[in-house]
Amino acid sequence: MLLDLTKSEIKTFVEELGEKAFRANQLYDALLQAKKLDEITTLPKSLKEKIKSEYPSFCIYKKLVSKDGTCKYIFKFLDGEIIEGVLMKYKYGNTLCLSTQVGCRMGCSFCASTLNGLKRNLSAGEMLEQVLLVNRDQGGEPDRRAVTNLVLMGMGEPLDNFENVCKFLSLVSSEEGLNISQRNITLSTCGIVPKIYELADRGFSVNLTISLHATNDEERKKLMPIANAFSIQEIIKACKYYFEKTGRRFAFEYTLVAGVNDSLHEADKLAELLKGLPCFVNLIPLNYVQERGMRGTEIKKAYAFLERLTSKGLNATKRRTMGADIGGACGQLRSQVLKEEA
Ligand code: SAH
Repeated sequence: MLLDLTKSEIKTFVEELGEKAFRANQLYDALLQAKKLDEITTLPKSLKEKIKSEYPSFCIYKKLVSKDGTCKYIFKFLDGEIIEGVLMKYKYGNTLCLSTQVGCRMGCSFCASTLNGLKRNLSAGEMLEQVLLVNRDQGGEPDRRAVTNLVLMGMGEPLDNFENVCKFLSLVSSEEGLNISQRNITLSTCGIVPKIYELADRGFSVNLTISLHATNDEERKKLMPIANAFSIQEIIKACKYYFEKTGRRFAFEYTLVAGVNDSLHEADKLAELLKGLPCFVNLIPLNYVQERGMRGTEIKKAYAFLERLTSKGLNATKRRTMGADIGGACGQLRSQVLKEEA
């Protein structure tokens, strides 16, 4: 697919088709603007015919807009697979939460994305396609971005699709592309330790967030199968390495599940665990997923948990719930659409 290519690779591609070099610029501009093939007026029909099978579908299959401005998108790819993304609007800019895989094989017990396992990885171009589409949909231009920040927190585990994610990060942050600074990009992982080291060694400088959700390995194993492979201490060690290499602080996400991990005693243990680390904690009350039967912590209790953390000197915030009226949690909208279609 053409979006997998860098600008200079597109030049080579166009030249190999026997076309003039300036066609590459026109093609690249069209891609950056998320134009559908038949909307491109600058390219001759014969060339369009030649690139048809490699050109992205640029298809927003469905879009829901929440009262708070949050937009939920369903994208459809060339092979018919659908995935979801969410655009959240903040004072400082617009953050797109994008997907890295169709489905997920991590098996976390509270997450809707993993219910049917992993269908396939997304290519770097398919990740970029999400950003370009939303940028266009929100009235942005390649040089006047409507999408300013990215979080890799949609469907999938980014570090389980490592090469494609690395390629995507390079493409989306490249100067000739959308030029979104890596400082404005956050990669969230369930904690695949060796890949955290590799990410640091490859010279990336994105923000790193770990989905922690428990304060000890035994409890974490009940929620997240990956905890059988890597311990919390191994994860923390890898985060420190990432910090040393990149200078980027890291963060932990802690999803509050009613009656499971939300007692003040757990807050104390969390504060103890993370004491002195250059990190902060993001609390997320669990979004209810019908198939999972777990409930989020009620708001009053969530604030008490937060207060306990901050009183112990931890840098922590509670994530504002956004787009709850349109199916906010991972994989919710997609599973809804799949059901409707079945
Ligand atoms: N696989 C990556 C990124 C995708 S999930 C990861 O594990 O970090 C993004 C975040 O949403 C993770 O912290 C995940 O644990 C959390 N999450 C998943 N299902 C959720 C739900 N139903 N309610 C609230 N947060 C959820």
